[in-house]
Parts: sequence; structure tokens; C-alpha cells
Amino acid sequence: MYQHKWISGEEIALPVGKAVCIGRNYVAHAKELNNPIPSNPLLFMKPASALCDFGPEICIDQSKGEHHYEAELVLLVGNLIDSDSAEPLRHVCGVGLGLDLTLRELQTQLKEKGHPWETAKAFDGSGCITPFLPVSEDILSTEMTYQFWQNEVLKQQGKSANMIFNLETLLKEITQFFTLYPGDIVMTGTPEGVGPLGAGDQLKLQLGAGEIFHSSVHGKAS
Ligand code: ZN
Repeated sequence: MYQHKWISGEEIALPVGKAVCIGRNYVAHAKELNNPIPSNPLLFMKPASALCDFGPEICIDQSKGEHHYEAELVLLVGNLIDSDSAEPLRHVCGVGLGLDLTLRELQTQLKEKGHPWETAKAFDGSGCITPFLPVSEDILSTEMTYQFWQNEVLKQQGKSANMIFNLETLLKEITQFFTLYPGDIVMTGTPEGVGPLGAGDQLKLQLGAGEIFHSSVHGKAS
């Protein structure tokens, strides 16, 4: 079972809750998928059962189609945040990275039919999460950057400054609809450069100039 962990390796004494995810929070990524630039954040969710560790291995079931990676900055909620929370960033206790895995062909079919996306976005193992760095509001208000490599090729570079909606705005928008409980996470959207994973791929994620997290992709033959 997945548990949230600190970068030290210690388990975090919070339950594993839902992940609230943001679609289209970077202009260039919205353009690469031919989506309009949103005027409000596009929200969707993954249940706790979707979450897994980013490393040492990610399992993909290729019989379900192409799994696209989307590297994202992830916030860990430490105290309840609801629509009355004046300074929601104060209640975030950790920042990490994650891959929002997406069955892109299935998602495209669902979008065309106007159906919900859950099977393409919220399936088991679709939220691959690194350990978290303990944070203060100050860290979250400064510019954060992150990098994702596939087989030693730099594929995605995210900058919080390039987000259409900043972290505080995201938390305020999310809590208009969904109360965030301790142990919930927020996946803040992906920059441009998304693409398919292949069995045997070697993956790396890095927050700023911090520790590099490694994983490899295991293809499940079913
Ligand atoms: Zn995403």
C-alpha cells in the first residue's frame, strides 16, 4: 500500500487521501493538446487507490493503450483547507513531484463522447508520487522549478512562475468544490513535453537542484 514519505525516507503520519488534479495549467501544454486556455482551473480527481510510489518501478499495462507521462509539482495537505481558509498555503506541509499517468487514446475517445475521464486518468497506479520535502509558506511563494528525464533525455521542465493559476489561486478554486483533508494531495498540472512511456524506460524527476528520484518502467503483459 502506498504511504506518503518524507525525503528522509520516514513515513508521514497522515492518511493517504484523494488527489485533486489540475488540467491545463500551463499555456504551452494546453496548446500542444489543442485545448483552449481556460479561464478557471480544470479540476479532476484521482482516488487514494490510484496513488503509488514513483520509484523504484512504475508498472504499466500496455493492453490498455499508451500511457502518457505528465510530470507535475505535487502539494501535500497538512491541515484541513476549505473555502473559509484565508491563507490556504499555510496548511500545505510538503512539496514533491509526481507523474499523472494518462491513457491518452482512451481520454481522447471519452472527451469526444463528452464522457467523464476517470478510466483514463484515475486508474490504479496512475498517480506516481515522489517523497515530499517539508515546506513553509515562504518556500511555496518563491519560484519552484522541476525537471523530468526519460532515458537521460530532458523531456519536461516546469516553473511555478509559468502556471496560469498560481498555487494559492488553485487551492482557493479547489476548495470552492472540494474540502482538502490532511493527507490529500494536489497535482498542479503539467508543462509541455508530454509523451508515451515504454517498457524499460529509465525515468528521473528532480525538484530544483535537489535530490534526483529514479524509476524504471515495467510493462505488464496482460
Ligand atoms: Zn496532469
